[in-house]
Amino acid sequence: MTMNETTTVKTRAFVTGGSRGIGAAIALRLAEAGHPIVLNFRSNQAAAEKIHAAIQAMGVEVQLCPFDVADAQQSAAAIEALLQDGKGHIGIVVNNAGIARDNSFPVMKQDEWESVTRTTLDGFYNVTRPLLMPMVRQRFGRIINIASFSGVAGNRGQVNYSAAKAGLIGATKALALEVARRNITVNAVAPGLIETEMIQSAPIEKILEHIPMRRLGKPEEVAALVAFLASEGAGYITGQVLGINGGLG
Ligand code: NDP
Repeated sequence: MTMNETTTVKTRAFVTGGSRGIGAAIALRLAEAGHPIVLNFRSNQAAAEKIHAAIQAMGVEVQLCPFDVADAQQSAAAIEALLQDGKGHIGIVVNNAGIARDNSFPVMKQDEWESVTRTTLDGFYNVTRPLLMPMVRQRFGRIINIASFSGVAGNRGQVNYSAAKAGLIGATKALALEVARRNITVNAVAPGLIETEMIQSAPIEKILEHIPMRRLGKPEEVAALVAFLASEGAGYITGQVLGINGGLG
């Protein structure tokens, strides 16, 4: 085993929005790969505790870290505490926390615009920036941002969400350039329609007609891609947007 492999296996992984859906699947998959997990969520304590218990049952270290990623002060305090807790380097960051508040643009409320853009974009900034310098010092990092097909292609009724996810893709590409020489990779994953609570009210039957595979994706399928991007084997992939969408585009 090389030094790098040792580092990759032992590094802690920080997953935002890890209590449910795609984030929970990512946390479980990274735990399976042996990474101690820091599980962020905002409010659903019961769901977070279920994932916490499942990871503990694997014999992997896990800690809950609840805070609102859109809140600069909460984020700064929580991350400062993590950096001081002596439980090891955080070498993997998965910016997964996200919300959708769909509405047609002429009637989109200020709150619908701000809550979505702030969760995705301020969330990325609040979480990733303080964790970056420790990665630079370690000469190792994997930053994975969960964007969306909606941020690549645009989607009706989602001007706020598409803008936020397209912004996240821009941030991914720019940061990848800044840190490439430090052995830190930064990539975005752009899922199509994935079976989680987020899409409960979507017109699934109608949407399926446009998906070449004629099915929704599974959170575990997104998690497998994220785990690969977090792995040693993905060390030369950076600044990319990887679609996972059943052939949608
Ligand atoms: P879910 O609604 O199922 O889960 C969202 C998760 O994010 C929850 O754990 C929630 O925590 C957390 N969260 C929301 N807001 C905040 C916040 N401000 N601070 C911290 N945590 C927060 O969503 P999905 O699993 O479906 O989506 C995960 C990511 O994937 C999102 O970024 C989404 O935009 C993206 N995506 C999803 C697609 C889909 O089809 N499902 C398609 C493309 C992209 P809690 O419950 O505790 O509040």
